[in-house]
Amino acid sequence: MTGSQKRPDRPVICTVAPCYNEEVVIARFHDRLRTVLTSLPDLDYRMVYVDDGSSDRTLEELNSIAAGDARVHVYSLSRNFGHQTALSAGLDVARGDGILMMDSDLQHPPELIPEMVARWQQGFDVVSAVRQGNDGDSLAKRLSSRAFYSFINQLSDVPIVPGAADFCLLSRHAHQALCAMPERHRFLRGMVSWIGFRRTFVPFHAPARAAGHSKYTPRKQFRLALDAVFSFTAVPMKLAFRSGLVVAGLGLAFLVYILARFLFLGDLVPGWASLICTLLLLGGVQTVFIGLLGEYLARVFEETKGRPRYFFKQASESSSATADWPRRQSA
Ligand code: UDP
Ligand code: MG
Repeated sequence: MTGSQKRPDRPVICTVAPCYNEEVVIARFHDRLRTVLTSLPDLDYRMVYVDDGSSDRTLEELNSIAAGDARVHVYSLSRNFGHQTALSAGLDVARGDGILMMDSDLQHPPELIPEMVARWQQGFDVVSAVRQGNDGDSLAKRLSSRAFYSFINQLSDVPIVPGAADFCLLSRHAHQALCAMPERHRFLRGMVSWIGFRRTFVPFHAPARAAGHSKYTPRKQFRLALDAVFSFTAVPMKLAFRSGLVVAGLGLAFLVYILARFLFLGDLVPGWASLICTLLLLGGVQTVFIGLLGEYLARVFEETKGRPRYFFKQASESSSATADWPRRQSA
């Protein structure tokens, strides 16, 4: 396809799938996705794949898929930037009337797309697929996920629906709103809740990954959880202030108690234990809260640097994914 090609008249669904070391599953994923997309009546489609700096043959696989299909647009990041950044890069370059983001390991079944599209055609701006149960995940992952969602929902200003991960169809408006958010530490499922618009949910049962293994190491999960907490709430910072007041108040009350005993009973024995306990308590609380402040400060520092969030080492030559919008190399 060339850049001079006119935009098709039928509404266009553009899928965005990040891929990191998915060589064993990507061809299967593409086949199933294409079968579903071609069956959608009165809709055209494009597919954007973002290779997140894979070290296996994922990029070669994607390029050979794109060579035989002009609707496929392959982008490749200069290194592994992580799922949320790869997905954001895909959202930046994707153009269409509806933008559908999904994982490329078949845990987000393409067969759910017709129902999501139907809801979008009814006028919803955000159609989130909500996972019911997570059979493929380990007990530890299920428990930590449950604990995380209940924790973040206690703190966050916007509700973050458990199970509504990054399998989501966005209208043009919702897509533009999401792309207008410049932050570096991205927790997309929270951002999707934050933008508002008309939203609906479609339940689905997530199968285990079709092949390969999860790229979300416990470290990456922990980082995502931190991004969620520190990007979506200032409660920990406020908590620091309140807890500091409580601890200081307790210290003052203890001092009054000691003075009273000294004045009225005169039985004060110099208490090494209570002294050391107080010191440790205060020291601990202060260190924890200095750490919390540090987390926010580090994020402010990262944002003020204003670095691009990612670089492409390969961008789709075919320009139909971006034909009706100005092209950007990075955000
Ligand atoms: N992914 C990515 N970069 C990463 C890790 C994951 O692009 O650093 C992609 C991966 O290829 C998949 C999706 O993000 O399409 C979700 O990752 P994964 O299936 O490993 O996570 P899980 O489903 O186990 O949480
Ligand atoms: Mg997965």
